[in-house]
Amino acid sequence: MKLGIVGLPNVGKSTLFNAITNAGAESANYPFCTIDPNVGVVAVPDHRLDWLSEFYHPKKTTPAVIEFVDIAGLVKGASKGEGLGNKFLANIRECSAIVHVVRCFDDENIIHVEGSTDPLRDIGIIDIELIMADVEMVERRIKKAETAAKGDKKFLREAELFTRLKDWLNDGNSARSFPCDDADDQALIATAELLSLKPIIYAANLDEDGFADYENVPYYQQVAEVAAKEGAQVIPVCAKLESEIAELDDGDKKAFLEDLGIPESGLDRLIKASYTLLGLISYLTGGEDECRAWTITKGTKAPQAAGKIHTDFERGFIRAEVISFEDLQKTGSMAAAKEKGLVRSEGKEYVMKDGDIVLFRFNV
Ligand code: GDP
Repeated sequence: MKLGIVGLPNVGKSTLFNAITNAGAESANYPFCTIDPNVGVVAVPDHRLDWLSEFYHPKKTTPAVIEFVDIAGLVKGASKGEGLGNKFLANIRECSAIVHVVRCFDDENIIHVEGSTDPLRDIGIIDIELIMADVEMVERRIKKAETAAKGDKKFLREAELFTRLKDWLNDGNSARSFPCDDADDQALIATAELLSLKPIIYAANLDEDGFADYENVPYYQQVAEVAAKEGAQVIPVCAKLESEIAELDDGDKKAFLEDLGIPESGLDRLIKASYTLLGLISYLTGGEDECRAWTITKGTKAPQAAGKIHTDFERGFIRAEVISFEDLQKTGSMAAAKEKGLVRSEGKEYVMKDGDIVLFRFNV
């Protein structure tokens, strides 16, 4: 599951992407990750894993990771094939969610392709490109459904649904906000792989001064307003600062952020929000060899979660010994937690929770 970083030229995408690659996770640990200069693999910050690692002093600590793709070059007219339009749109199609970087700083030395800083206009330009690309997709679906309806009337409903969606898109609205409560209709729309249906986070890119006081920056407020209307999140970042912070080691980073009076870097917040946007959570395993955060989708049951570690764990699953991170932290040790009855024995139907610390029991 990858997130695509989109935005107009000169808004700070590459700078933010560089911060991601600088902060990047050791790729040797993640053989599944794409080796591609446009893909950045980054660790998901997790205070629970940090705590476990301090606790066990393991040989190895392995965080959860997510991948970001730098989708440069989206410009006005991309949906009509301007620039390398179609290629970029195809790259976005492969992503599960979108991070839309919006320029929220003035700097006359850095040309804005549209001549001035105007977050609302910029968001509108990118939105329209995605929406127009979707119109094309939807038109194709309508044609297909109409042809199929000649043989089987049930396709009429599909043609009618996509026609309503097309009108909605043509009015400049994204598929994300299409009013549709019917679960079958939603499932049908989901098969169309629409760009403007993808979950989105706005990254408001401010300069250093603006970042320190972002809530009072009108540009930021405009992005926040758009995001609120869509039920989306907006994360303030200062891409320039983030790329500098990302080069520091953990100790220096902490001191640097304290100096600035910021509890958490914008990039860390963005990574966490992205993880949540994808519907992902982590469970943890701890021991002297390795402490590790494992990525699962929300709603995963214990045996399938065990299968992330090894297929044998899923096949031979007996039970999971589970404790919440908070309980372990409170009691201070696994033995003390056990004595207090805080380590639960969970079976096949247990739905994993974020931050569960787990030991799986299985037959080989
Ligand atoms: P992209 O075209 O969207 O990838 O934009 P870049 O990341 O290449 O940034 C364009 C210019 O804006 C570069 O000169 C960056 O140094 C500058 N820039 C990016 N982020 C910031 C920021 O947070 N503050 C300031 N002042 N300049 C930035």
